[in-house]
Amino acid sequence: MINKIQFRLLMAFILIIVVAASTASIFMGYNFQKQVDEYQAQLDQNTMSRIERVLVRYYTGLGSWSDVQSVVEQTGQFYGRRVILTDISGAVVGDSQGDLLNKAFTLKWKGMTMPRNAPIKIGVLYMSPLEGQAPEVVILMRQVNFFLVVGAILAVCVAGFITVFLSGFISKPIQALTRAAGQFGKGDFSQRVKTRDKSEVGQLARSFNIMADNLENAEHLRRNMVTDVAHELRGPVSNIRGQLEAIEDGLAKPDEKAIGSIHEEIMLLSRLIDDLQELSLMEAGRFKFDMQIGDISQVIAQVVEALQGKAAAQKISLTTDIEKGLPPCNIDQLRIGQVLRNLVNNAIAHTGEGGSVKVSAKLSFDRVEVCVADSGEGIPSAELSNIFERFYRVDKSRSRATGGTGLGLTIARTLVEAHGGKIWVESEVGKGSRFFFTVPVPAAANGTARNHKG
Ligand code: ADP
Repeated sequence: MINKIQFRLLMAFILIIVVAASTASIFMGYNFQKQVDEYQAQLDQNTMSRIERVLVRYYTGLGSWSDVQSVVEQTGQFYGRRVILTDISGAVVGDSQGDLLNKAFTLKWKGMTMPRNAPIKIGVLYMSPLEGQAPEVVILMRQVNFFLVVGAILAVCVAGFITVFLSGFISKPIQALTRAAGQFGKGDFSQRVKTRDKSEVGQLARSFNIMADNLENAEHLRRNMVTDVAHELRGPVSNIRGQLEAIEDGLAKPDEKAIGSIHEEIMLLSRLIDDLQELSLMEAGRFKFDMQIGDISQVIAQVVEALQGKAAAQKISLTTDIEKGLPPCNIDQLRIGQVLRNLVNNAIAHTGEGGSVKVSAKLSFDRVEVCVADSGEGIPSAELSNIFERFYRVDKSRSRATGGTGLGLTIARTLVEAHGGKIWVESEVGKGSRFFFTVPVPAAANGTARNHKG
């Protein structure tokens, strides 16, 4: 109970109300008392003035204070206060209670020297201070305090209602989040929190949903990855096993051909393992790029030259068409070379004898666009969206023959995207394919290039 938001909110509200009501009561009481005291002092002053007038008139009539006692007694009775009159020497000549008559005045009351407006003084008038509060003031104070207490109780009740309403509002998404997180912890990755709340709690719920999406995706990828890898490994391993068993059973000879074939499968396995490791490092962001300002046309020229022999062996013409004055790009030359090699190798592999492969490069706005175009078999349009997916092959048997791991384009895409570029393909079956990728040109280099060209 004590740990519930509802309870804590209620306690916080009650505390605020109690503190506010008590503070208001203290300030109001203090202010009220001050006003009352000032009013009382003014009243006392008026009363003293009236008594002074009576006594001054008495003294002026007689020329002395003799027998003033009866007048003082009447005045005391009339005003309901003790009135004491001393002559100018300080001897009491009148006391409405009679106790101090003819004695010295020893009480610590504030006196009024009479007459106030004349230079010759005839005596001092004292009036007992009011004891405690005037009854009207006490009643008024009680009423004010009563209303404050009733107000505070009412406020607590209203706070209770507001708390129930508000806390439901606040705690609902939190409870939903807690439930979802609990289920998530148990491995149910489909849990999401529905909320339209725009507050921090709503944002937390939305962040949770995004995290859940990513985790579910990652989990999905992880499961697929394991299945895919197992599937990919199974092929070459079962081929090697089949060939070794055939040799063991005497069905095949361990000749050069058999060893060559096993070696080929092992090479495929080792390429697969290398590619997988490279891809997983890249996807985990742990792959180190050696980014430098460099000339991409040089990279293209090197790759094309290295693959000329392979193309020639298949009677494929491999040419380049590089726009002059391309600006330098911020690239890891080795990795961009790897992307290009992969695309050109694919193009050669999927282009028949007598075909052509052309690598072109041009400046397109703020990026250099490289295109590897072949006149080969092309890719069916239905397959185009999957071509960059891991282990995806249009023609599985054909790919096996070319020794492809099915990871080349996935790695190429990851590398290009790591450079801040894009990779895509356009293809038509029977006419050939065009693979494009871009690399951004640094703003300063781009300006230089435009001026140079202009
Ligand atoms: P692989 O190792 O199989 O070549 P990639 O990821 O490089 O793997 O390519 C994936 C698939 O895309 C290939 O198996 C092939 O079916 C298809 N492909 C790639 N490049 C071309 C191309 N230039 N022409 C036709 N098909 C291609």
